[in-house]
Amino acid sequence: MEPYVIVGNGVAAVSAVEAIRARGDRTPIVILTDQECAFYSRPSLYYIMLGRIQWEDAWGRPDWWYEANDVDLRCSTAVTKIDPDRHTVQIENKTDIGYSKLLLAVGTQGRVLPWADQHLRGIVTLNTLLDVVGISELLSTASRAVVAGGGLTSIELVESCRHWGVETTFVMRGDRFLDKQLDHDEAEMIHSRLRAGGTDVRTNEEIAEVQGRVGRVRCATLREAGEEIFCEMAGCTVGVVPNSDLVKQAGGETDRGIVTDDQMLTTLPDIYAAGDVVQVRGSDGKPTRSEMLWYVAGDMGRVAGGNMAGGDERYRRRVFLNVSEFCGLDFCGVGSIVPGQPEVEETIIRDEERGSIRFVTLDGVLIGACFLGDIRLADIARGLIAKGARPRDLHSDHPLRLLLERGSP
Ligand SMILES: Cc1cc2nc3c(=O)[nH]c(=O)nc-3n(C[C@H](O)[C@H](O)[C@H](O)COP(=O)(O)OP(=O)(O)OC[C@H]3O[C@@H](n4cnc5c(N)ncnc54)[C@H](O)[C@@H]3O)c2cc1C
Repeated sequence: MEPYVIVGNGVAAVSAVEAIRARGDRTPIVILTDQECAFYSRPSLYYIMLGRIQWEDAWGRPDWWYEANDVDLRCSTAVTKIDPDRHTVQIENKTDIGYSKLLLAVGTQGRVLPWADQHLRGIVTLNTLLDVVGISELLSTASRAVVAGGGLTSIELVESCRHWGVETTFVMRGDRFLDKQLDHDEAEMIHSRLRAGGTDVRTNEEIAEVQGRVGRVRCATLREAGEEIFCEMAGCTVGVVPNSDLVKQAGGETDRGIVTDDQMLTTLPDIYAAGDVVQVRGSDGKPTRSEMLWYVAGDMGRVAGGNMAGGDERYRRRVFLNVSEFCGLDFCGVGSIVPGQPEVEETIIRDEERGSIRFVTLDGVLIGACFLGDIRLADIARGLIAKGARPRDLHSDHPLRLLLERGSP
């Protein structure tokens, strides 16, 4: 019998394996991954760069896991083509591997901007363990860096530079950090903490060009200010591109990512997809936006694996939850917190020192909550959002009601 083939070795892939085996399906599984090593946690990469954990602590499963689950793991093996009619995938050396069912859990890659010759040593993205090895090596000798981008990966790289004592210019196109989640005042709390820690924060700005000398980054030019910043590292953390080409070339439906139904089935027979690479079709028939979060990729992998093993499972989006930590503040965004949404009401509880909490309601119903500093109520808020609760109907000693009445974080 042909095996199940899984392309990719991230959280979506291992969750699929566990779901297949949990249903008692013993079909052999082959994992093909261009990754050079076993499964690790990408959210841990930040803590490796900060020196808070060792890279060994980032392994997502123990060594025996692959054998115990009868998985033939083939690392450093990139899949270059899929043939849905013949039920085969092709790897780099042109060998064909047959499958009975195929799962594409191929994730994304960091978007690289055309600043300069990408082979210059010192132009970096932050996506993989290998990236972290390269960045740590650079930061151990560099004195100055620029980081472009305004998202969580960007600030992780900026904070890592600070940890290594590297002077850093943080360049973002928009008017503030994390502009889809933080309002102006919340973002300003972060900007002022970054500046206090010595980071040069530039908003409404971008890098126009990076110049090199003898194969190494030498300076970056800012478009608006026209200023040249001498640096040894230029970090490009401006978003990711889903690895959807395998499906596109095979004639399956793609949008930005691979389009699937809610059972994680692509438009190609016996081919499933899961994780960051996927856009699940919504009830209106249109592909929804990818959330690109760890727990989401795991949820999708479990549904895909369960269905490969004969189940009838459907992916249900949970209330959005994004946790991070930067500038000495914990952050958690829950539900719908995009600033400036029409018709919503916001209740803001803020203290410059201790942080900020913003509750978003629509017609009195809680739809979002943004925590900076104290995130202890984030999970409770998530439960209330899922239930469609109204803060004003909560009983008088509910912690969220007490917080709203107290009016300070
Ligand atoms: C630095 C960083 C920090 C993050 N922090 C957080 C966080 O705090 N919280 C959170 O929720 N999420 C976080 N994320 C996002 C989270 O890591 C992703 O949502 C999750 O890893 C996606 O898992 P995946 O299995 O879909 O894909 P990935 O983990 O990207 O795995 C994709 C796999 O596919 C393989 N592959 C790709 N193309 C091919 C090919 N052609 N042939 C063979 N193999 C291929 C790759 O080698 C890899 O093994 C972070 C991501 C990064 C990079």
